[in-house]
Amino acid sequence: MNYSGLYHFDVLNGLGFRVSLFISGCDRQPKCRDCQNPKAWCHDFGETFTEATKEEIKRTLKHSSVRGLSLLGGEPSDNLADGVLLSFLQEIREEFPQKDIWAWSGYVFEELLNDPLKKEFLSYLDVLVDGEFIPELKNLNRPFGNSTNQRVLDVPKSLATKQAVLFEMEN
Ligand code: SF4
Repeated sequence: MNYSGLYHFDVLNGLGFRVSLFISGCDRQPKCRDCQNPKAWCHDFGETFTEATKEEIKRTLKHSSVRGLSLLGGEPSDNLADGVLLSFLQEIREEFPQKDIWAWSGYVFEELLNDPLKKEFLSYLDVLVDGEFIPELKNLNRPFGNSTNQRVLDVPKSLATKQAVLFEMEN
């Protein structure tokens, strides 16, 4: 697995201070019309995700002020076949049970749910921002999903009910 960016103490991608990992590779067809990062479609773009990368992420997650990990892309859910991301998420869950995990996907929750590997990926998430960004539906007042079709979902509740349940944002 490769990644194109790793940001520590990020405040743009999820609630609180976060570690944000931009994973390379997107297999979505057709591609989102307004994709901001076409270079990251290629699975080989950027740097290899190594044990050192994991340790770097874990070092930041140890800070009490850091709320969690955010996964962006590319398309994180198209990077599961080699098992690297899933086993990393399992490690994070075991070592940092108090931290939350958010992910962004160009697919919608229902598509992810219908694919066994992607469903396993969902099982590690707390929050999913789903669906592609559509310029005509742009609304920059919405936190995290900037077009009105995008949903911010509570993943455990959505998995339990097998339908999309919106995440209740804190005040
Ligand atoms: S899923 Fe992400 S990387 Fe893929 S085309 Fe859409 S915005 Fe671009």
